[in-house]
Amino acid sequence: MELILAIDTSCDETSVAVTSGRKVISNIIVSQTALHAPFGGVYPTVAKREHESKLKPAITLALKRAYISLDQLSAIAVTFGPGLPPALEVGVRTAKELALEHNLPIIPVDHIEGHIYSVFAQNKNGKPMRDIIFPFLALIVSGGHTELVLVKNHIDYQILGETLDDAAGEALDKTARMLGLGYPGGAALERIALRGDSTRFHFPIPMPQRHDLNFSYSGLKTAMMRMLTAMNEKEKLQNIPHLAASFQNTVVISLIKKLEKAMREYPTQLVVLGGGVGQNALLAHQFRSTVRKLGAKPLTPAYRYLYGDNAAMIGVVAHFKLHNAIMIKTREKIEALDRVPRAHLDTWV
Ligand code: AMP
Ligand code: MG
Repeated sequence: MELILAIDTSCDETSVAVTSGRKVISNIIVSQTALHAPFGGVYPTVAKREHESKLKPAITLALKRAYISLDQLSAIAVTFGPGLPPALEVGVRTAKELALEHNLPIIPVDHIEGHIYSVFAQNKNGKPMRDIIFPFLALIVSGGHTELVLVKNHIDYQILGETLDDAAGEALDKTARMLGLGYPGGAALERIALRGDSTRFHFPIPMPQRHDLNFSYSGLKTAMMRMLTAMNEKEKLQNIPHLAASFQNTVVISLIKKLEKAMREYPTQLVVLGGGVGQNALLAHQFRSTVRKLGAKPLTPAYRYLYGDNAAMIGVVAHFKLHNAIMIKTREKIEALDRVPRAHLDTWV
């Protein structure tokens, strides 16, 4: 089986993996989260600088942990978009340099494509063995994306719905910040919500009446801001767990409502969940029970590190692209490869 070196620098994680088929041989993730926390969001120049200093050491370490050298590789896979322009640029530039120097093809991968295939990644022993049954539905929920995708075949996608403004993870992060829970606060919000009553506060469910499959979270965020402005400090402090639980519940309901609608319109045997917000226990539970209730099989990433940004999932996609001869081989084409910060799954290069 071929060996692929995969790189993802789409946002604030520098990640490099070595994969063979669907097997993840090594996967390095260097997170910049702590550096961006004081800014309350990802700071582009800091992200670029960090990717530049961490990427080469991460490549060396990924190869070392896989006990291989560059000359044993079949291809280099790299995330070309969507993502933060200066961050993507570092990964794409480095992949091009390596490919040209070692005479390897490049397999460009869309980051969302990676999250979709994250559920099919396996450990070194080939576990778990999951059949890919087309077509299938994917719900991708992360800090930067909220998308419902119909996967008709390898490399054949139809975006059914996406966020019109903020991503679900972004809304959770902004709310967590308003509640003084730090950044990125999705996980902290979930922890504090465990102590709260989700029926205490009422938030409007975003767009329940709309007939499409798109999402919207900016109105919900504004509703939270208004609610907090109307409270004094004491009320705020007392209500943080209830506010967190009510907000989280509303975000989950909105995601599940659209998923149900998509499942009824596009019945499939498999439905997958990917992205960092998938780690949320309430969302994961609702996802599984809803998918089963409608007669399909729910799949979530088999290992924790596969939820957030990681290069392993990029390597898994690359395996299928390699077998469909989707790669860039010639020097001219490799030199011309560029990042696409606003890449869209159904219009990719
Ligand atoms: P990603 O963009 O895929 O790297 O995922 C990061 C996003 O996932 C951020 O918005 C986090 O706040 C969010 N996140 C991580 N863990 C949780 C959790 N347990 N509950 C909700 N959101 C989470
Ligand atoms: Mg991501």
